[in-house]
This record gives sequence, structure tokens and C-alpha cells, in this order.
Amino acid sequence: MKKIAILRCLKTSAACAGTGCLRAFNERSEGFKKYAGEDIQLAAMWTCNGCGDSMLEDQEGIEKKIARMAKNGIDAVHLSHCTSKKNADEVPVLCPTIKNISRRLEAAGVAVYDGTHGQHATGERLVIE
Ligand code: SF4
Repeated sequence: MKKIAILRCLKTSAACAGTGCLRAFNERSEGFKKYAGEDIQLAAMWTCNGCGDSMLEDQEGIEKKIARMAKNGIDAVHLSHCTSKKNADEVPVLCPTIKNISRRLEAAGVAVYDGTHGQHATGERLVIE
């Protein structure tokens, strides 16, 4: 069984219950379409530790979250819709903090994939330079 995790934006989570991500996961649609017919489990749904005026007290806790992905054998971390914000040209741009977390996940041996739901969710492996 493949273990999947979803990484979300802390700020957005203040007003988002994660229903779009979970619907797409349960339906094996949008960012999860490629898993149709596969035995998969949603093993984690976590957030970054924030930025700007919305930061969690325990900033070091992000280290534990990253380590837990590797320790628990997560096969794929999908970056949620909310981790990218549209620029002036309406093109989604991945949050730099999430980029950094993604690099560290890859370095820890955990693969990162694009998207959960929404028209831009490809579900493809992300290679972040
Ligand atoms: S660091 Fe990025 S993903 Fe995290 S709360 Fe801030 S904008 Fe959202």
C-alpha cells in the first residue's frame, strides 16, 4: 500500500477544512487521478509552520514533521492547492517556504508531487532546484 501525505499552507488552513484536498483524494481525481485502482492510504495531512504574522510558536517543529515523513515511509507528499498563490498574471507560484521544505523532503528521501485539487493540480513529481 502506498502512503500519501498532503502538505498545506498554515495561513489558508485558518479558513479551510481541507475538504477540496480530501474530496480529490477520496475520488482519486485531479492531483490524485494517477492512483486510480491503486491501494493508497492518506497517512498525513500537515501544514507548514507559517510565515509573516502567522507563525507557530514551535518553528523547530517543522524538522520533526519532515523527519516523520521519512520515518513513516511516506511514498509521496502532495503539495496542496493553497501552497501556490497566483501572481499578477494569474499564474500559480509555489511559496518559497514550501519550496524549501520540499527540497528537504527530497533530501530525506521523500518524493514531492504537484497538487491535490484544482485545475492546476498535475499530480506530477516536482523537481525543485
Ligand atoms: S509559508 Fe507559505 S505555505 Fe506557509 S503559511 Fe506562509 S504562505 Fe502559507
